Amino acid sequence: MRKPFVAGNWKMHKTTSEAIELIDELQPKIEDLSNVEIVFCVPFTCLSVTAEKLHQSKIGVGAQNVHWEKQGAYTGEISPLMIKEFGNYVIIGHSERRSLFGETNETVNKRMIAALNNDLIVIVCVGESLQENESGKTEEVITQQMRIAFSDVPPNQLNNVVIAYEPIWAIGTGLACDPNKANEIIKYSIRKPLIEMYGEKIANETRVLYGGSVKGSNAKEYFIQPDIDGALVGGASLKLEFVEIVRAAA
Ligand code: PEP
Repeated sequence: MRKPFVAGNWKMHKTTSEAIELIDELQPKIEDLSNVEIVFCVPFTCLSVTAEKLHQSKIGVGAQNVHWEKQGAYTGEISPLMIKEFGNYVIIGHSERRSLFGETNETVNKRMIAALNNDLIVIVCVGESLQENESGKTEEVITQQMRIAFSDVPPNQLNNVVIAYEPIWAIGTGLACDPNKANEIIKYSIRKPLIEMYGEKIANETRVLYGGSVKGSNAKEYFIQPDIDGALVGGASLKLEFVEIVRAAA
């Protein structure tokens, strides 16, 4: 059984005082749910207050990116050890990092290796653009993203990996991917390469999320799909609606 997993990606939202307000609003409404792993992936500047607020909580704390080096002359970057001081999770390879900040499959792989070697739980994002989708390249693109992201990642680290299928055209657009279609893409473009790289057992044990315009009103349709184990939520993670999504997963 794969435990349901719901992560909120706060993106570049919330000052520390706003973060405290949001946590105070959400935490009491989801804290009691035992059959779901919940994570708030907050801006770097909110990691400290979020960790403090959630110190006694089952809700996990995560960052939204990580560098692969331990330390050094990398102005503006944050190392795995720095994140580890506050939380156990990190998002890697989000499409906004890929499209706006030059992230490549190769740098995703470097970040994965460094994060896993420092005992962070990785939420690694893959997904196709609208153009790739419309030209029938979805499976090819995602399979390639998967193979490179996981290159040199040993099987014993897969229990610290969660994969998020995020079609780029569905992120923040309100155009959510059809749940049956999302399930099919996860089956053939994510679990299939996982089987090839790690075998059936690990592929079946690895959690795969859907992300892209998940809302309180559509979350359940994804969670009833056999290959979808939860959601990576952007916009709706900043609202009370997040509670509805977490409850649907639990
Ligand atoms: C995301 O940022 O990963 C995301 C899925 O955003 P949204 O839920 O707003 O589409």
